[in-house]
Amino acid sequence: MNIILLGAPGAGKGTEASKIVDTYKLPHISTGDIFRENIKNQTPIGVQAKSYIDQGLLVPDEVTCKIVEERISREDCKNGYMLDGFPRTIAQAEALDKSGIDIDCVLTLEVGDEEIVERLSGRLECKICGSSFHKDHRKPKAEGVCDNCGGTLRTREDDKPDVIRARLKTYYEQTAPLKEFYAKKGMLKTVIGKNEIASTSAEVLKVLGV
Ligand code: ADP
Ligand code: ZN
Repeated sequence: MNIILLGAPGAGKGTEASKIVDTYKLPHISTGDIFRENIKNQTPIGVQAKSYIDQGLLVPDEVTCKIVEERISREDCKNGYMLDGFPRTIAQAEALDKSGIDIDCVLTLEVGDEEIVERLSGRLECKICGSSFHKDHRKPKAEGVCDNCGGTLRTREDDKPDVIRARLKTYYEQTAPLKEFYAKKGMLKTVIGKNEIASTSAEVLKVLGV
């Protein structure tokens, strides 16, 4: 089972991806997480990626395709995987096509712009395990502390207002056209992201046929 998750920044891809991988026991491959890990470890890829991410731009296709190729060639991906945040451009989708990989389902999570800005500008992320919270809508039990692992919560570098606007622009220009790309192949499934995470997740699993 190979699944692709599309959606604007802040649509809830990370949250839904976690539900899907728990249900299907698939590795969760998030290009955003891979880049953040590289930035943290100050690898050459991390240094390069940071200059784009900080501006709300996409990391070049060549770099991104290479890390995904490497990741999905590993043993744990033999029986499928969940791609969260890849492909994000038509060129990336074409590269994936060319590699001969069969995708079973492309799911897009739809959320309005106002809601996205509201979600991202209040988002808090755990430094240790990456869990997401929101300062108003999904408060952690103790302020500034992760419910799951006790790690410190912080605002993601790219969740600053001007970067959020740039990320949205990038999404509409470069990633949204992928919906049409996959719809034409008859592969696209759409879920409207709701405010209650539980009902969105239920819908996602229904659409995937669980
Ligand atoms: P979000 O979906 O909330 O914007 P992600 O964690 O998926 O966040 O990605 C963070 C950033 O990493 C993106 O804004 C982009 O700069 C970079 N990135 C992630 N995936 C890709 C990709 N497939 N191609 C190019 N850049 C990417
Ligand atoms: Zn945590």
